[in-house]
Amino acid sequence: MTHIVTENCSSCRFTDCVSVCPVNCFHGDADRLYIDPDLCIDCGACIPKCPVGAIVEDIDILGSPLIELNAEQAALLPVIKAKQSPLPGADARRDTLISEGLV
Ligand code: SF4
Ligand code: SF4
Repeated sequence: MTHIVTENCSSCRFTDCVSVCPVNCFHGDADRLYIDPDLCIDCGACIPKCPVGAIVEDIDILGSPLIELNAEQAALLPVIKAKQSPLPGADARRDTLISEGLV
């Protein structure tokens, strides 16, 4: 089992998640993050840290292409270990997701 980053992470990069991950299993491109399923220990520490509800357990989205996408992208992209500055517009995007009930 593992945790999965969803599309809610796109254009955010608040990265509060990476600061609490004990095994540094977050990887990222310029837009969003992905979790390496081979390293994630399912501790759940990252879920309450994400302000846009972009991290879920794989058992809650069984069959979703997001599971394979996270594994594929994590294998290709660099590890993100430290908190970074949010992307431009991240605050507005978070507020929109909340107002639309997607968080
Ligand atoms: S805190 Fe959530 S939205 Fe922000 S980078 Fe981490 S997973 Fe993505
Ligand atoms: S569940 Fe734990 S190990 Fe897995 S990504 Fe989140 S903080 Fe890291």
